[in-house]
Amino acid sequence: MREIVCALHRELVRNNLVAWTAGNISGRVPGEELFVIKPSGISYDDLTPESMVVCDLDGTLVEGSLAPSSDTAAHAYIYRHMPEVNGVVHTHSTYASAWAARGEPIPCVLTAMADEFGGEIPVGPFALIGNDDIGQGVVATLRGRRSPAVLMRNHGVFTVGDSPKAAVKAAVMCEDVARTVHISRQLGEPLPIPQDDVDRLYDRYQNVYGQRSNR
Ligand SMILES: [Zn+2]
Repeated sequence: MREIVCALHRELVRNNLVAWTAGNISGRVPGEELFVIKPSGISYDDLTPESMVVCDLDGTLVEGSLAPSSDTAAHAYIYRHMPEVNGVVHTHSTYASAWAARGEPIPCVLTAMADEFGGEIPVGPFALIGNDDIGQGVVATLRGRRSPAVLMRNHGVFTVGDSPKAAVKAAVMCEDVARTVHISRQLGEPLPIPQDDVDRLYDRYQNVYGQRSNR
């Protein structure tokens, strides 16, 4: 899991989702009450599997010589309250954060959004770092929704997945649709997709699309 989480951080850089060290990925350790997360303030170029830190589900450091990400409490809260989640990503990616800065959900106006998010990408509450407020806001917003992404108001994006890779994919797709819908808005009002078509697209993508062995 250290190797997986370390390697996935390169995807944040490759997909232009992060500036400096402002973004992090974690992954639940299978069968353990533990997760692996990025150390705080370390350049993405300098990350190694050995430098990844291991925390328990209270966010307490269990293994590693570096301090865990400053967002560790939020990741821990999500793992404690969403047992189906095995990967969490946090970024301040530009277009998604621009929607978050306005406190505006991204409307479902692209078939790719219906596929991946099953509807709009919702906005979570304004919350300050330092306690469980961010984690609570993420969980309260995502629970009972299809979207694996939430725009935390005035802040950035949290995504979840059944693996760290799935959470990274959601973060990449979230920024992609945030950008496209933003550009569409410049020229007029994007057309909504009827709910029953959103439902059909979501069902097909989640259950039929792709290689059967690679889902
Ligand atoms: Zn942040």
